[in-house]
Amino acid sequence: MAKTRSLILILGDQLNPSISSLMNFDPQLDQIVMAEVWEETHYVLHHQKKIALIFSAMRHFAQQLKKQKWPVHYHQYHPDSPYHSLLDVLKDAVNQYSPQQLLVTQCGEWRLHHVMQTWSKSLAVPVHILEDDRFVCSITEFKKWAAGRKQLRMEYFYRYIRQKTGLLMENNNPIGEQWNFDKKNRKSYRNDPPVPPTYQCKPDKITQNVLNDVTHYFPNHFGQLKPFWFAVTAEQATAALTHFIEHKLAYFGDFQDAMSHQHDFLFHSIISIYLNIGLLDPITTCKMVEQAYRQGKAPLNAVEGFIRQIIGWREYVRGIYWLKMPAYAKENAFNNKRCLPSFYWTTQTKMQCMHQCLKSTYEHAYAHHIQRLMVTGNFALLAGITPSEICEWYLAVYADAFEWVELPNTLGMVMHADDGLLGSKPYAASGKYIDRMSDYCKGCHYNVKTQYETDSCPFNALYWFFLITHYDKLQHNPRMKLVLNALHRKSDAEITAIKQRAHYLIKQLDNL
Ligand code: FAD
Ligand code: SF4
Repeated sequence: MAKTRSLILILGDQLNPSISSLMNFDPQLDQIVMAEVWEETHYVLHHQKKIALIFSAMRHFAQQLKKQKWPVHYHQYHPDSPYHSLLDVLKDAVNQYSPQQLLVTQCGEWRLHHVMQTWSKSLAVPVHILEDDRFVCSITEFKKWAAGRKQLRMEYFYRYIRQKTGLLMENNNPIGEQWNFDKKNRKSYRNDPPVPPTYQCKPDKITQNVLNDVTHYFPNHFGQLKPFWFAVTAEQATAALTHFIEHKLAYFGDFQDAMSHQHDFLFHSIISIYLNIGLLDPITTCKMVEQAYRQGKAPLNAVEGFIRQIIGWREYVRGIYWLKMPAYAKENAFNNKRCLPSFYWTTQTKMQCMHQCLKSTYEHAYAHHIQRLMVTGNFALLAGITPSEICEWYLAVYADAFEWVELPNTLGMVMHADDGLLGSKPYAASGKYIDRMSDYCKGCHYNVKTQYETDSCPFNALYWFFLITHYDKLQHNPRMKLVLNALHRKSDAEITAIKQRAHYLIKQLDNL
C-alpha cells in the first residue's frame, strides 16, 4: 500500500526528534515545516529573551534535522514577510509539496488549538492533531483521575503519579515513609552556604544572528536581551541540568522558598524553559535527580521537593488547564476590576520586594516560584487586579511561559479566581511573610512592622483589607479560620484605620 505523504508542522515548543508528529517520519516522502511568524510573537508582547530563546532553539533544531538529511521548510522571521501566521506559511508549503495530510502534535495553548481546528478547511488537506506524549499523564488520563472527585488536590494526584512512575518508591511505599517533605523546605537564606553560579552558555553564530534580529525587530517588547546565556540545544540543556544536580540540588529543598536581593536564582534549577520547549524530558530529568539521591549526593527533602514540582505541580496544572478550558480563562471569583499598575512593566516602585522581583523578571525573563507567587502574584491578589490583566503579564514576561502552565498558576494558584479549584486557599500574605523569607524589607522605603502609618508596608493593610472585603466567601473555607480569627480580634478603630490606609493605597496604586 502506498504511504501517505505528510507535511509535519513542528512548533517552537516542540523541539524534540521523538515528538509524536515525527514518529513515523519518512525523509524520502515527508516534509517538515517550522516557522517564526508575526502572529505568534505578538499575541502578547513576549519578553525579548523569550523570543530569542525560542527562535535560536528552533534554528538549532532545524539545523540538527537537516544534518540528518530530514527536509525542513523553515520560515525565518522578518517584519515585512507576507507570511504573518502559521496558516500563511502552511498554505505556501501545501502549494509547494502537495501533501496528502498535515500532522501536528497538540499545541500548549487553547488559542492555537482552536485555530488548528479550522485548518483542514482552509488548507483543503486533512489535519491530524496528535497527542503530546512528552508528559507523564495524558489529558485523557487526567480526566479519568479527576472524574467523580469532589476536590482535585495536587497532593493526591502527585501520589498517584509517584506510584505510576515508581519515582522515589520502594516496595510500593514512598521512600522515607512520607510522600512530602515540604515542611523542611522553608528556610530563609542568610548567605550560607554560598550560591554557586548558574550554568551559562556562550551564544554561537546562530544565536548571535537571532539576537540581532530580536534587537532590530522587537525593540518595543519588554525586557533586557543581553547578556543572553540560555541553552538552545538539548545537549546544552542537559549540561545545565547536570550542573544544577552537581552544584545546587543538595540545597534546593532547604532554600526553595527563600528570596535574596543578591541572588536572583539562589538554588533553583532554571530548567522550566528547557522542559517546556522540548530540550529536556521530564521523566529523564527526574530519574537523574533520583539517581543523585541514591548516590548520596542530595538529601531526600531536596530531591522529593524537586521531583514533586515536575511530576506533581507541572503535570497537575496541565491537567487542570485542558480539563477546564476555555471557560477557565474567564473566571474571576473575587470579581476583581482594577488595572495592572504600570510598575509591573517599568519595575519602578518604592516597594523593594516588588522592585527586586520585577528587576529579575526584566533582566532574565525569570523569577523563581516564590517571587512569582508571594510577591508579584500576592500583590496582584491583594490589590484586586483583574485576572486577565495579570495573566497576560505573566504570559508575556517569563521565558518559560506557555498558557497551559502559566494560566492555572496565575489564575488558579495566585489569584484564586477559580474559586479554589486548584488551591485549597488563597496564597494571600502580609509583609510579615516576605520579611521572614527574604532580606528585601531591610532596604525598603516602607516599614514592614507597621500597619497603617503613612510609610507602612502596603502589603499589610491590603492583606487585612482583602480578608475584610472577601469575608463572606472566605469564612466558609476551613483553612482560613485561623487568619479570620485574627481579623476578629482587631478593634473597630484598627479596622477603620486598615480600611482608610487600603483605600488610599488603592487610589495610589501606580505610585507605590
Ligand atoms: P525550580 O524551582 O528549579 O523547579 C523545578 C521545576 O519544577 C521547574 O523547572 C518547573 O518545570 C517545575 N515547576 C515548579 N513549580 C511549578 C508549578 N507551580 N507549575 C508548573 N511547573 C512547576 N512555570 C512555567 O514553567 N511556566 C510558566 O509560565 C509559569 N508561570 C507561573 C506563574 C505564576 C504566577 C507562578 C506562581 C508560577 C509559575 N510557574 C510557571 C511555576 C514556577 O514558578 C516555574 O516553573 C519556576 O519558577 C521555573 O524556574 P526553575 O526552572 O528554576 O524551577
Ligand atoms: Fe515589600 Fe513591604 Fe518588605 Fe517593603 S516592607 S520589601 S513593600 S514586604
